[in-house]
Amino acid sequence: MTEIDYYELLEVSRDADKSVIKKAYRKMAMKYHPDKNPGDSEAEESFKAVNEAYQVLSDQEKRAIYDRHGKAGLEGHGQQRGGFSGGFDDLGSVFEEMFGSSFGGGGSRRQRKSYNYNLDVAVEVRLEFNEAIFGCKKDIKYHYKTACKSCKGTGAKDGKLSTCSTCAGQGQVHARQGFMTFAQTCPTCQGSGQAASASCKKCNGTGYDEVKDNFKVDIPEGVNDGMRIRVSNKGNIAPDGTRGDLYLEVSVKEDSHFVRHDDDIYYEAPIFFTQVALGGKITIPGLRGELELEIPAGAKDKQQFTFKNEGVKSVQGYGKGNLVVQIKIEYPKKLDNEQKELLEKLQESFGVESKPHETSFEGMFEKAKKWFS
Ligand SMILES: [Zn+2]
Ligand SMILES: [Zn+2]
Repeated sequence: MTEIDYYELLEVSRDADKSVIKKAYRKMAMKYHPDKNPGDSEAEESFKAVNEAYQVLSDQEKRAIYDRHGKAGLEGHGQQRGGFSGGFDDLGSVFEEMFGSSFGGGGSRRQRKSYNYNLDVAVEVRLEFNEAIFGCKKDIKYHYKTACKSCKGTGAKDGKLSTCSTCAGQGQVHARQGFMTFAQTCPTCQGSGQAASASCKKCNGTGYDEVKDNFKVDIPEGVNDGMRIRVSNKGNIAPDGTRGDLYLEVSVKEDSHFVRHDDDIYYEAPIFFTQVALGGKITIPGLRGELELEIPAGAKDKQQFTFKNEGVKSVQGYGKGNLVVQIKIEYPKKLDNEQKELLEKLQESFGVESKPHETSFEGMFEKAKKWFS
């Protein structure tokens, strides 16, 4: 068995400081983690090796011994051949610190409870565009769970639980990955250490009954798509009577004209080209009634006009958003003979003759021709 230098394994220099080593280890451990390389025994070996390297190089004392005497010097210093004995807890906490408890499921110990369901409930509430902006009353129809009376939420026949055979009552099972052992919540008893030897017939072993309920709720002005509204004490009920919360997950339908971005509202106002040429006031729709838009003569296509505080009222109470109107200049698609004549007359009145001649625009054509020839 060849031995690779710990510093080389982590790809750090021999004088690297603690934070550099930690960073390098994190990178390598992520790269070779068995979860990312299922069935790859080479990656598993590398993973073992970088863990070993980190255990030594992150410990000042061990690192000093290693620097002076190499791996052989570490024997007898809590270091045993073929891995570490009793070092799992240490490593587990390093892992948790670095990757959070989501990694490998290690360390996340659930609270022991005698029932099998979560107390919080979520239901989707679909709102029309305007209902979200102005608030509304909604009828919420949903189901909540209440502990089965005959088994007191345990799901076991007569409520009798015995020691879970999967985890021997520990609430956790250990999964080996390479030389490392990860603790995971027992899938049979969800960490309680107690499981049913026979299922309750009333609830088919689920531990709960479902109750249909409905109530009216005030949806506040200004809610938006993706928000969650908490209704306290409307969730599932535990055997001891504790009740969870109900979360309303708001989804808002889009509108065909108005576009909402946070508390601002955008829309496009079609303006006829003559209106743009003449300028002046036009009436446009706002969220709370009609608004007057002053179009400056010669306004440009896609020009935006902002009406302060005409947007959505902030649900958090930060005032109101803006209404932004973008104009879209519209031209006639068809002209009858009379309109054509009128437009030609108008054009002539500006000194632009119907037949093109040397204008500055034509000069541009000549210039461009020279560029390409
Ligand atoms: Zn039951
Ligand atoms: Zn168990």
